[in-house]
Amino acid sequence: MVISTSFPNETATVGGQSFATSGTFDVINPATGLSFAQAPNVTADQLDDVFEAALFAFSSWRRDDDERRAYLHRAADAICEATEELARLLTSEQGKPLNDARREISTSVSWLRYYADLDVPRQVIRDDDEAYEEVFRRPIGVVSAITPWNFPLTLAMWKIAPALRAGNTMVIKPSPYTPLATLALGRLLRGVLPDGVLNVVSGLDPLGSGMTLHPIPRKISFTGSTTVGKLVAAGAAPDLKRLTLELGGNDPAIVLGDVNVADIADSLFWGGFNNNGQICVAVKRVYAHAAIHDELVEALREIARSTLVGDGMVPGVRLGPVNNRTQFEIVKELAADAVAHGGRILAGGLPLDREGYFFPPTVVDRVHDGMRLVDEEQFGPVMPIVNFTDEAQIIDMVNRGPYGLTASVWSADVDHALVLAAQIDSGQVAINRHGRGVLPHLPFSGHRLSGLGVENGMWGLDSYTELQTIAAPPRNTRNSA
Ligand code: NAD
Repeated sequence: MVISTSFPNETATVGGQSFATSGTFDVINPATGLSFAQAPNVTADQLDDVFEAALFAFSSWRRDDDERRAYLHRAADAICEATEELARLLTSEQGKPLNDARREISTSVSWLRYYADLDVPRQVIRDDDEAYEEVFRRPIGVVSAITPWNFPLTLAMWKIAPALRAGNTMVIKPSPYTPLATLALGRLLRGVLPDGVLNVVSGLDPLGSGMTLHPIPRKISFTGSTTVGKLVAAGAAPDLKRLTLELGGNDPAIVLGDVNVADIADSLFWGGFNNNGQICVAVKRVYAHAAIHDELVEALREIARSTLVGDGMVPGVRLGPVNNRTQFEIVKELAADAVAHGGRILAGGLPLDREGYFFPPTVVDRVHDGMRLVDEEQFGPVMPIVNFTDEAQIIDMVNRGPYGLTASVWSADVDHALVLAAQIDSGQVAINRHGRGVLPHLPFSGHRLSGLGVENGMWGLDSYTELQTIAAPPRNTRNSA
């Protein structure tokens, strides 16, 4: 059953106003594979006007931190009030179940409130009879932000909240697969934030490279694939623009032989399949110790088989469609490749025979390192389970490959899990619940090809600032000259 909903066409927001474009592009509902709305196609040659609006707003926005904190709380209030409207847009363009969409919005609000409430201590290094030295964090200027299609609002807010709190202004561009919720956010915040502080544009690429190459922004904050992240870094280099890159991952979960399978199976399953596996920090490969392997795959198979897949608008659905045809084809291809190389499908394995991009949660064992499904980022609902016996080799196995985003270790012996965690080369390692550390106050930073720079917490705020050292005569001598 597909529940249709109609939406007014969204427009871009620039300088606090609706921004005219000459063209639009189709937005596809992944539950049907059909266009259900149009989004404005801002072109790269319109970016001068867009970035000028953000630059104009910067000089006053940067001045008063207390005022900015109050504005961020008002923005959070406005988003809360619009939860239902935003959630419906999100489900229609992204595919996730409505409850997950609502949760995405409350997560976005919590990030905004976290940064509004964050107390930033002064850093006086020396204040005595001989010198006064203080280090300040100054805003960088206009930030150009680019986001992917899996969590359009949360990942936007990971950028908007710290960047604005630090005194920067922003132009943000969501993925062309999921432009509407972010455009709606821009519309909702017209008149809530001062004009030009947050500008939202959408458009087909090459708008993305235009956002990187434009001379006005002083920082690019990008979340997306490693392939595009490298292009963004190259585009930012000639002007030495500051960079935050949150990129791909192939997150391992190591399940040791001492776990109680019944206790962990549900959490492990959802660590991999939440949002259909379309999460940068999803469990993307499981290494299960031989002592519990068979019991674990059986438990995961049962959960997969009992999970209701369907249109995210339908009550009770736990997993919606894959977001777009390209990703759907990648998921199909990786599952088929695993089977062709000896993998055994325990649940799922083939697309559902219906319209839209539906692929059921798929559990595959008899896989090993060197197979594409294990080595590559599937970013979809297919979980490979690698059977291992020798714990001494497991760290080398999980540290293989180019990524280092997050990982998890599962064991009844937390101290032992912590010893293994210290040897894993990734930005976060969680014990006994994957993604446990993805919280507003904790740093999130990909190692190796998973990223550059840090989001979240005080570290994320710092990344939207430049250091400025003020060295002055001692206070007791001032005004005596
Ligand atoms: P993508 O790299 O294809 O696109 C991301 C964004 O970049 C989109 O807005 C796109 O329009 C834009 N873009 C495309 N070409 C560009 C260019 N040349 N210059 C600048 N921008 C350009 O990624 P995606 O398919 O939207 O998202 C999936 C990927 O994102 C996965 O690899 C996933 O791991 C990664 N991701 C990472 C994190 C993280 O925090 N590390 C979070 C979510 C997603």
